[in-house]
Amino acid sequence: MSAEKKVTYVSLSADDPAIDAGFTAAIAEARAALGATAPLRVAGETRTGAGTIESRNPADARQVVARVTAAGEADLRDAVAAARAAFPAWSGRPWQERVAIIERAAEMVRARRYELSVWMILEMGKNRVEALGEIEETADLLAYYAGQMRDNGGYVREMGRLAPTDRNVSVLRPYGVWAVIAPWNFPYALLGAPVAAALVAGNTVVCKPSSETPLSGVKLAEIFHAAGVPPEALSCLPGSGRVVGDGLVEHPDVAGVTFTGSYDVGFKRLYQRFAGEFPKPAIVEMGGKNPALVMPSADLAQAVQGIYRSAFGMNGHKCSACSRVYVHRAVAAELLAGLVKAADGVVPADPLEKGTFVGPVATKQSYEDYQRYVAVARQAGEVVKAGGAVLTDGAYAHGYFVRPTVLAGLPRDHQLVREELFVPLVTVETVDSLDEALARANDTKFGLTAGLFSREGKEIDAFFDRIEAGVTYVNRAAGATTGAWPGVQPFGGWKGSGSTGKNIGGLYTVPCYLREQSRTVCQ
Ligand code: NAD
Repeated sequence: MSAEKKVTYVSLSADDPAIDAGFTAAIAEARAALGATAPLRVAGETRTGAGTIESRNPADARQVVARVTAAGEADLRDAVAAARAAFPAWSGRPWQERVAIIERAAEMVRARRYELSVWMILEMGKNRVEALGEIEETADLLAYYAGQMRDNGGYVREMGRLAPTDRNVSVLRPYGVWAVIAPWNFPYALLGAPVAAALVAGNTVVCKPSSETPLSGVKLAEIFHAAGVPPEALSCLPGSGRVVGDGLVEHPDVAGVTFTGSYDVGFKRLYQRFAGEFPKPAIVEMGGKNPALVMPSADLAQAVQGIYRSAFGMNGHKCSACSRVYVHRAVAAELLAGLVKAADGVVPADPLEKGTFVGPVATKQSYEDYQRYVAVARQAGEVVKAGGAVLTDGAYAHGYFVRPTVLAGLPRDHQLVREELFVPLVTVETVDSLDEALARANDTKFGLTAGLFSREGKEIDAFFDRIEAGVTYVNRAAGATTGAWPGVQPFGGWKGSGSTGKNIGGLYTVPCYLREQSRTVCQ
């Protein structure tokens, strides 16, 4: 390990000469390779595919970052068939060998952190600190899953005996071909981590990155293969949700799936259709409409900072992002003023530049969504308290730049208060008690993250006991991405948000990719 500072999601800056030098070199290399074609590889074989996905830079949409060959139906069929054929050999290898390969992949991700960060920034516009934090997290998760396998001795356990002549052993065994479908907001962590968990457990994998960030999957597959995963045991298929996504969900030989993305796709198109003839494991991590509650005893500066980072960090493109604030009437005006000031102070900039807090929103769709939501908000009256505009002058002219937006005074059941928006837009509503705040916070189909700002012990206890969310925090100025993701939600999890973490962290992630077999041998 180098001595340079490690960047994580709680880092506010990456102020370190070694980090600067790493970015400078990686940016120069990436610029020289912009627009190159990334080939499609199915089970190690280069294919012509079914078209090209042009990955564009949201900071300057004229710039093609990469031309990534997309997979078609035949590629999908062949990838699944190859993964199925590779399963006996891969799952039959001693688990220690798989652990060593995944640990090697973790080191390779870490070694290439600047290169991967820069390509991620170019594909989806998050800032340097967020990008580096995600690459470090990806490497950490790979290593962590390998460690889970080792710490549990490959999940082979002696059981009790009914008769002294019987020996019972519990063995956790993989399922077969596992599909991993990833979103664009954490394109490395949310693809790489579930791929690693599935592989280290002994499954073979076919994965699909988002069409908005197709290069991420290509680069990660390259690393897993270089680390020693046989090409047949892992294929990465960039492609559309309709062809590759639906194709994986409907394929009878896909034994399990990890999906991270929206509720509409994850629940309606995937979870409800995946099972087919018999139950199959589906880890679905979906959206959020995450509340923060602010009570009179709160440190308001801390609350403003926490909400600001959570709602506007990465332009609100986090499943964990705060998008609803319920503030006690006694401190509502002061909190709102603080949030407005913080939002007004944000100057979106080129995310490749050091010191940028927010770059552009990541996709053309997000840019259009943002403008539509602001228009809808304005129809409800004088509710836009900060932001509410796109930026189009000068350096902003060709990118998807928007102003972080604070809305206050929307009706309780307004569309913008109920739906996940996934852009930098937060609603602030006034309440008269913690009871009311909790009731309104829980009045949602989601249950991903929730925060409280209060210094009253009784309020903190009541919040933890009654809030319906998987990732909860109190007085956290660093925002809602706590890094402490729960993982034991095999049958559903937290409402429409799903299992809130089994795709990435969680103490019990690897067993989710395994099924138990008891083995009894009699003398
Ligand atoms: P999305 O649902 O649009 O797409 C996710 C993935 O599903 C993409 O790869 C997409 O191509 C694929 N897909 C699309 N249609 C499909 C289909 N019919 N069958 C199978 N796959 C299909 O989500 P997105 O816009 O990429 O990501 C944003 C969403 O992800 C937000 O809702 C966010 O909250 C959620 N998210 C959740 C978590 C979490 O851990 N809970 C983390 C990150 C993002």
